[in-house]
Amino acid sequence: MKLYEFQGKELFARCGISVPKRRLVRSFEDLETLDAPLVLKSQVLSGGRGKAGGVVVCDDNASLVQEGKRLIGSSLKGERVLALLAEEKVDILQEYYLSFVIDGELKKPLIIASAAGGMEIEKVAEEEPEKILKLSFDPLAGPSDYHFRRIADFLSLRNELKDLRKVLRAMYALFNQYDASLIEINPLVKTSAGLIALDSKINLDDDAEFRQKEIFQEFQEQQNVIQQNNAKAKDEGTITYVPLDGNIGMISDGAGTGMLSLDLIRDFGGEAADFCEMGGLTSPDVMYQAMETVFNRATKELKSLLVILIGGFNRMDEMAEGIIRYKNDHGLSVPLFVRLCGTMETEGKKMMIDSGLPVFDDLEEAVEKAVMAAEGE
Ligand code: GDP
Ligand code: MN
Repeated sequence: MKLYEFQGKELFARCGISVPKRRLVRSFEDLETLDAPLVLKSQVLSGGRGKAGGVVVCDDNASLVQEGKRLIGSSLKGERVLALLAEEKVDILQEYYLSFVIDGELKKPLIIASAAGGMEIEKVAEEEPEKILKLSFDPLAGPSDYHFRRIADFLSLRNELKDLRKVLRAMYALFNQYDASLIEINPLVKTSAGLIALDSKINLDDDAEFRQKEIFQEFQEQQNVIQQNNAKAKDEGTITYVPLDGNIGMISDGAGTGMLSLDLIRDFGGEAADFCEMGGLTSPDVMYQAMETVFNRATKELKSLLVILIGGFNRMDEMAEGIIRYKNDHGLSVPLFVRLCGTMETEGKKMMIDSGLPVFDDLEEAVEKAVMAAEGE
């Protein structure tokens, strides 16, 4: 589970890492109650928000309201922004990078440190690897004072060793206590008041949920509130739809399958009305939305609908669920030709047949029938 910045900072605060004073803002009304200067930070799970315009320093109340209204509800890196973190503005002397990660290759936990903070660490690692220090430590013993001093020297933070040690110890405590796979501070900033974590990125290991129930539940509940509308936005984002000139609607669960289906339609003498693919692993909701999209956006009257599914990751019972739900809600104005195979094929087919919908095993047969139907034969 990835945590939002505001959630990570809550954990930082609980274990003694300094973070700016902050408030979560979710509505336009909340914005009116804030006082500049403040930094408004979009709460999304992807990184690089600063570069994408999702982090804004506001020096007066007018710009605070204006920027806040622009950010709330906007889309940032494919995620809907439904909450902002309004933070006290901090005067930065220097930015650093610190993280605790599990290194899959070394099969060991690592501390990564760099004085090139605030930037994408992957880029620094590629272009200036000498600016990054990686220290592995014994997972049972945890990092020792030797590690802390090495890091302080590398970052030229010898004078701040006490402060830095406190931050690193707290990061390790979180890493260890909550089964985290990543605890990252980028940037950790030097200020006249000491070291402050300006950002937070925390990933909890999903495989450890069974023994971390409390924290997973606490954070999941908060995420549900923020993501109310996001699930739908995300699902819709996975559908690729391109209208074409023909009269045979086409839906596939992958781009390759979709291209193959278009070729076959052509081979059998038909014309596809669209290219619509659901992008690999998908859900009943997306299947339903794909049907909605194909019916609502077709430029010519549809004569048949061809659905070609190859259940690699996809579950055919779930695809059948989406198709059947669409049929029950809207009815079907044209004959439907579904070919499904793969994961949970038997269950999916049974559901289709029980709902009075034909299914095909053979790809070419399904395409041929769809073309014949479109020709009115
Ligand atoms: P990210 O781009 O998603 O990693 O978001 P960050 O939280 O790291 O913010 C991006 C950048 O905004 C930081 O590296 C800082 O340079 C800047 N920034 C964030 N908060 C403050 C602040 O309180 N004061 C100042 N001066 N800059 C800030
Ligand atoms: Mn950052």
